[in-house]
Amino acid sequence: MRRRLGWGFWLALGWIALVLAGAAAADLLPLPRYDETLAGPPQSGPGPDHPFGTDGLGRDVLSRVVYGARVSLGVGVGAVVLGLLIGAPLGVLAGYRRRATDAVIMGFNDVALAFPALVFALAVVAFAGASLVNVLIVLGVLGVPAWVRLVRGATMVFSEREFVAAARVLGARDRTVLWREIVPNVSLPVASYAFIGMAVAIVAEGSLAFLGLSVQAPTPTWGGLINEGRPLMENAPHVVLVPSVVMFLTVLAFNLLGDRLRALTDVRQSGLEPVRRRRADRLPAQPHHVEEGVLLQVADLRTHFTTVRGTVRAVDGVSFTLERGRTLAIVGESGSGKSMLIRSILGLAPDAGTLRGGSVYLDGQDLTELDGEQLRRILGTRLAAVFQDPMTALNPVRTIGAQVMEPLTVHLGMKRGAARARAAELLASVGIPEPARALRRYPHQLSGGMRQRVTIAMALSCGPDVLFADEPTTALDVTVQDQVLRLIRRQREERHMAVVLVSHDLSVVAEWADEVIVMYAGKVVERGPAATLFERTRMPYTEALLRAVPKLTDPAHHPLRLLPGRPPDLAAPPSGCAFHPRCPYARERCTQEEPPLFQAEVPDHLYACWYPVGTGAGVVETSGISGTAEALKAAETTGADETTDAIEGADSRGR
Ligand code: SF4
Repeated sequence: MRRRLGWGFWLALGWIALVLAGAAAADLLPLPRYDETLAGPPQSGPGPDHPFGTDGLGRDVLSRVVYGARVSLGVGVGAVVLGLLIGAPLGVLAGYRRRATDAVIMGFNDVALAFPALVFALAVVAFAGASLVNVLIVLGVLGVPAWVRLVRGATMVFSEREFVAAARVLGARDRTVLWREIVPNVSLPVASYAFIGMAVAIVAEGSLAFLGLSVQAPTPTWGGLINEGRPLMENAPHVVLVPSVVMFLTVLAFNLLGDRLRALTDVRQSGLEPVRRRRADRLPAQPHHVEEGVLLQVADLRTHFTTVRGTVRAVDGVSFTLERGRTLAIVGESGSGKSMLIRSILGLAPDAGTLRGGSVYLDGQDLTELDGEQLRRILGTRLAAVFQDPMTALNPVRTIGAQVMEPLTVHLGMKRGAARARAAELLASVGIPEPARALRRYPHQLSGGMRQRVTIAMALSCGPDVLFADEPTTALDVTVQDQVLRLIRRQREERHMAVVLVSHDLSVVAEWADEVIVMYAGKVVERGPAATLFERTRMPYTEALLRAVPKLTDPAHHPLRLLPGRPPDLAAPPSGCAFHPRCPYARERCTQEEPPLFQAEVPDHLYACWYPVGTGAGVVETSGISGTAEALKAAETTGADETTDAIEGADSRGR
């Protein structure tokens, strides 16, 4: 946690703790009273008796700054608490109830925001009297509209989330949903902005005190001390400088705390974010052979991220080749590195904190050697991609026509009329009815399947040589999945292009792929022709993936065969074979030595396992490390025959 918060956070926290402790224990400290005149010679500089000197009346500046913290911090904290007590419930109500409640609350809120805050504060304090309580109330009330807006926005975001919908579906009352589901989530961003609010309130109180409209003398406040010291700037600048520096550091510390806490509540900054660097660094090149006449060759591709938790090897030494007219499937669990492999091939992996190695050859040209502009000319023309969620892949505020026409005008230089006609042809070719009408529509006006067809049309618009489809059917229902996969295959055959299909659905892969790569912990652990890989599986991980596929032949109420354990933490992967903590065949050697890719008996079939299944080497001693074949069988609910059934089922899919 300390490393994630950073030294700035701890310095800021230490400073605020020091100021708070000083203010709370001011009466116990060996300091003269803040109002004790002639405690020392007037306007004297720092010395042994008065470390920060004295002011114009000979009062100890340190003592006045320490006592002044009581008012400044008291107003800062008190105003935020008061603002939150009024603003947070109104914000939650407006964000959760919406409609009339939201309209009424936000109507009043907008009117309140229209008042000039400082003028209002000046008027109220001048009328009601300059006291600590009045200043606190004025600043607290002035902060209410901002809190209402902030809390309302956060509530709206969280009330749309699935877990809130799930709670409602389960019949939870509104009060329960608010307290259990929404308030705990909203309180995190609110807490971080509360620190920033305190900094704002301290500055506001200082401004009022500077104008003589806060707590009156002789009670000190930081703003008042700066105001008092103004006439002495020439002879005794320390009288102004000391409270100014203390106030500046305190405001800075509150801002730092708020900013860091906000970053902590951001899931993107969970401690695995790359350490900032200027650009991606190259890893040492490994010697490799460049294949002649191959459309796409990926050679020892590596993408590592330097994070505060260590180096994450997201893609680690992946190699394969792909010919025209073929489909290569990349399979594995979530987090195995499939999507990052695609991004690395396309040069779309983030630069910050990235270490890259290996090469990507397209018709013999190494794409990793190209600069940004050269690569941009190849992306969209020779390489194209379709992503998982068509709703997020399409710009919601631009028409379908504008988005499909864009690659045609940018890459192919088509005039607007020609691009529009071609866009309509493309939509028709991917099975969109009334393409001319569809061009005028927005993404939200199409169904999920139609949106994915549009993204495929966009990807195909410039006639790519390789189409990368990153889980293109995951967001679609089963019937639409089949249509989209048929469409991709038809386009592949018509255009004689190659397809790289990322999927975690093995039934899809078995039906649609020619070759398969199985990834685990960023590495290729099995690779080969689809039929061979499914029929003669050698890697226990592949076997476990196949066993996890539900089959129609399973008896009713048959428990799903899940993979035990979790995918490894890529910042600290297990030693030896990364799969060994989850592998029922693991032995001592697996925990110590990482298996290389071995050649199976069928050409082009490779696997990374010391004890491959189906060869006799996988028969396990009962003293195995994390389990045995017997243990695996024991986990089955209905015994050895069922295990045999499962493997036969999986094989038939491969056939
Ligand atoms: S048998 Fe050993 S090497 Fe093979 S997958 Fe299991 S743990 Fe890895």
